[in-house]
Amino acid sequence: MTTETDVADAIIDRIRITADVKEKVVIAGLIRTPFKSPGGEQSCSTCIYFHPRHEHCGLPELDFPVDPDWWCRLWRL
Ligand code: SF4
Repeated sequence: MTTETDVADAIIDRIRITADVKEKVVIAGLIRTPFKSPGGEQSCSTCIYFHPRHEHCGLPELDFPVDPDWWCRLWRL
């Protein structure tokens, strides 16, 4: 059975092998709006990787500026 962690690991593995930021954005599925999930709204502002002081994604494989209202498939609480 494939878990959410398996999917996230597969996405991260794909992001790791490219240096192209645009390609990383596409693979991560970054969107410029919050994502409405059955459990509530998700956005960078509520993700464990978000650094609010610098509005930056701290996930090492992404490591770029993001807006608090954006979202990607690697969002985690
Ligand atoms: S992992 Fe995704 S949702 Fe989380 S801060 Fe980075 S870009 Fe935003």
